[in-house]
Amino acid sequence: NEPPHCSSLPKTTILVGDSGVGKTSLLTCVLVRFKDGAFLGGNFIATVGIDFRNKVVDVDNLKVKLQIWDTAGQERFRSVTHAYYRDAQALLLLYDITNKPSFDNIRAWLTEIHEYAQKDVVIMLLGNKSDMAAERVVKTEEGEKLAKEHGIPFMETSAKTGVNIELAFHAIAKELKHRA
Ligand code: GDP
Ligand code: MG
Repeated sequence: NEPPHCSSLPKTTILVGDSGVGKTSLLTCVLVRFKDGAFLGGNFIATVGIDFRNKVVDVDNLKVKLQIWDTAGQERFRSVTHAYYRDAQALLLLYDITNKPSFDNIRAWLTEIHEYAQKDVVIMLLGNKSDMAAERVVKTEEGEKLAKEHGIPFMETSAKTGVNIELAFHAIAKELKHRA
């Protein structure tokens, strides 16, 4: 029962970043939080293999359907390679602002992305857990600088409070719509 202007093919969007940065929480947040306001932790979605969920985002009165793929722990083994990246039209690359190694690893993730993903993949860098200000070890400016170096947009998010989550998905959907 989709309106005629709703693109029928979902845009594949993948979540990438070190284990523990909040990928599953981000997905859960965008799907659940805005319905009942509750924060559900990382175990809400059974993490076996690769999981995916659909999300429809309204962009300027047009609907963009996203199929969001989440890895289930394989990120630790870097076995998430060609097959996962190949079909991605968009990619959310996450680090945790309270975890320096997760930020330092962004360069390695970008190398892998450039190796395996399509050249025109829409990328956004997210510094997650922005609610944990007291434990912050990565400055906002460091995230901005890295994103600028690679020519990609950047935002700080919180899958716990929901800050910037809808905005991030909206920005991705908007960019995908413009490229369609
Ligand atoms: P993943 O391994 O990247 O999928 O990370 P998870 O989504 O499993 O999150 C790892 C841990 O960080 C869990 O305990 C989450 O509840 C917590 N977490 C995720 N996002 C946030 C956030 O934005 N703020 C806070 N305070 N905790 C978060
Ligand atoms: Mg996970």
